[in-house]
Parts: sequence; C-alpha cells; structure tokens
Amino acid sequence: ERRPVACHRVAMIGAPGVGKTALISQFQTTECINAYDRQRDVDSSEQKVSILLNGEESELYFVNCTSAKEEIDRSEPPDAFVVIYSVVDKASFQKAEQELARLLDFDMLRARPALLVGNKIDLARSRAVSTQDGKCLACTYKAKFIEVSVGINHNVDELLVGILNQIRLKKQHY
Ligand code: GDP
Repeated sequence: ERRPVACHRVAMIGAPGVGKTALISQFQTTECINAYDRQRDVDSSEQKVSILLNGEESELYFVNCTSAKEEIDRSEPPDAFVVIYSVVDKASFQKAEQELARLLDFDMLRARPALLVGNKIDLARSRAVSTQDGKCLACTYKAKFIEVSVGINHNVDELLVGILNQIRLKKQHY
C-alpha cells in the first residue's frame, strides 16, 4: 500500500533574468523524478516535481516569483525559500540580499529553510559576484549556499536534493 506523498511548496525568488524559469524546467528533467510526473502543464506558474529520496517520495511545487512579498502575505507561506541571483549580474545579487532581509524581517527563516543560489557560473569570464561574497551573504542569513549553472546542468540535481533535504530537516524540528 502506498503512503500519502508529502507535498511542499517552494518559492523561487529572484530578479528577472537570473534563470528561475530555466531552473524549474531543468528540475523537471532530473533523473530522480518519477516518469509519470514528467508530463505537466507547462503554462502553469506553479510546477510540480516528484522526487524519491532516501526511500521516501515527496512532491515539490515550485512557484516562480520576482519578490518574496506575495509569498509572505499568503495565509500559508511556502515550505522553503530559494533565493536566486546571477553571478554575472551584481544588481541581482543586491536584490537577493534585499529579499533575504525581507524574509528575516517577517520571521520566515526560523521554521523554514532558505537556500541562496548563484546561477550562470558557466559565464566565468563575465563573473561579477565572487563565490566568497555568495558564501558570506548566505552565512549572514543562515541560508545554505550553492553555485550552479542551469546552462551546462552543473549542480542542478544537487540543488534539488538539497532543497528537499533542508525541508525534511526543518520539519523534524518544528
Ligand atoms: P527568469 O526571469 O529568472 O525566469 O530567467 P530565465 O529562466 O527566463 O532565464 C533568463 C535567461 O538566462 C535565458 O535566456 C536563459 O537561457 C539564460 N540562462 C539561465 N540559466 C543560465 C545559465 O546557467 N547559464 C547561461 N549562460 N544562461 C542561462
């Protein structure tokens, strides 16, 4: 008999152009997804990915949003916040910092994980935000940090697994 599948809502926050849409699409092609879940409504702004991790299945609903505000204002806020910037766009990094500050102000980070993601590391010669700066920002807000490239599919599966792991860890404590 199948146990009910845990569903988690994940807010993908970041400036326009940082790669949120690309990242969510890439998540949906990852190998830890069940085949039956690969077909979905591509027009929907909420997109579902099903993951089998440590023998347990979970569903993640990814919501694409430029700012955290809408998600904070919901009667039921999301289960995790993924704040994305582009390593070739300094302004997107500043925006990420503002969004993390807002999440902290609204007391969203105590019971819910936050992950800071630097995307587009394939564009190494145009890099405007160092790995160290990313790490420091994440550390300030007690967020997990990872650099990825959706373009060359680097660290995308690691990020997906990291999101689910962080959600499961926090759920144990709250
Ligand atoms: P969104 O506005 O945050 O949803 O950003 P999109 O997903 O629409 O991506 C914006 C642009 O950046 C698109 O042209 C993507 O193809 C490109 N892009 C996304 N990720 C990467 C990456 O890792 N490397 C490179 N070189 N381009 C990327």
